[in-house]
Amino acid sequence: MSDHVLVINAGSSSLKYSLMDAGSGEAAADGLIERIGEAEGHQKHRGPDGETESSDPIASHEDALRAALKAFETHGPSLDDVDLAAVGHRVVHGGSRFAAPSLVDDALIAEVTELVPLAPLHNPANLEGIEVARRLFPDLPQVAVFDTAFHQTLPPHAYTYAVPSEWLEEHGIRRYGFHGTSHSFVSEQAARRLGRDLADVNLIVLHLGNGCSASAVRGGQSVETSMGMTPLEGLVMGTRSGDLDPAIHAHLARELGWSIDEIDRALNSKSGLKGLAGENDFRELSRLRASGNERAQLAFDVYCHRIKKYVGAYYAVLGTVDAIVFTAGVGQHSAEVRAASLQGLERLGIELDPDRNAEPGETGVVSADGSDVAVLVIPTNEEWEIARQALQVVRD
Ligand code: AMP
Repeated sequence: MSDHVLVINAGSSSLKYSLMDAGSGEAAADGLIERIGEAEGHQKHRGPDGETESSDPIASHEDALRAALKAFETHGPSLDDVDLAAVGHRVVHGGSRFAAPSLVDDALIAEVTELVPLAPLHNPANLEGIEVARRLFPDLPQVAVFDTAFHQTLPPHAYTYAVPSEWLEEHGIRRYGFHGTSHSFVSEQAARRLGRDLADVNLIVLHLGNGCSASAVRGGQSVETSMGMTPLEGLVMGTRSGDLDPAIHAHLARELGWSIDEIDRALNSKSGLKGLAGENDFRELSRLRASGNERAQLAFDVYCHRIKKYVGAYYAVLGTVDAIVFTAGVGQHSAEVRAASLQGLERLGIELDPDRNAEPGETGVVSADGSDVAVLVIPTNEEWEIARQALQVVRD
């Protein structure tokens, strides 16, 4: 059996896939199928011969996976030659039930289905991806890798909301945290960069992409994280508000007559950087800001201020911090965000080196030599982490 894992991330109208070598982290091929169920679909496949695109209609997730398999057949690499070890599925919400990646069986599907009320947008799509892959690869083990699993080590005082206790007991209302695959992957990489055992280091990890989350990681275990029962809580994101006064919901309903669904949509899809500056793509926001756009400047300031608050809070939670790690699209590429978020924290032993920050080298170290806390830039690789975890499950 090879180390190859087909990683599948099924969204409500999309299906992303990567053929990963779990040992080396190399993607032999990957692709994205979008607009499933619409009049015109879109498929992109990158294989050994480069990238191909098409726009045939794709009626369902099953058709999408069939189209992906066709692309493997036509453009390579051949899945028969690769001898897949497993299919690894990204599953957004594992609730309190899943603290580790798990082999898919009927019981797992039933449990993930029970969690749909906690992730109504994501879990049904993830389940659809699993069902389809089970039908098309009946002889391969399927492994579910949960976004929430890494944060199952949060202590009760970190995951409990101060609300009537039956809300947790009867309805599962607590903090779960997300982006766990990324936080887990970069924590391990960070320890390696520091030349230390993961068990011996305290880290603040900042995943700043379209979605943004922070975590405090003690000895390889997540002890705090910014996303909550859903991925809406915490940092300012591309289109999500992050933290806000929960009374705003009631105010919008009473004063403006908004429905719960309208409020939910506004906070998830029309807020964050998009709400403040009309633009959720950070590169575009940077261009607007550079041209003197005041709303873009305010959006940037709110975004970085929120990160700084979490750095301070997680510093206090951990007591000592060995490294702050920036990852994902913005974290990895925006020197300005790193500089503004950590500005003025020298008394906490956090000092950037401006040249290294402007151009992080191979090591990813962007802190000054005298900084007590290392600041690292580490690319995340969720597909590789899913492949590694899936392989571990089938080999155990
Ligand atoms: P991700 O979700 O990790 O793919 O990150 C997406 C976000 O990263 C988007 O807001 C992009 O605009 C942003 N991003 C990607 N490349 C850059 C860059 N070179 N500079 C600043 N932001 C970037």
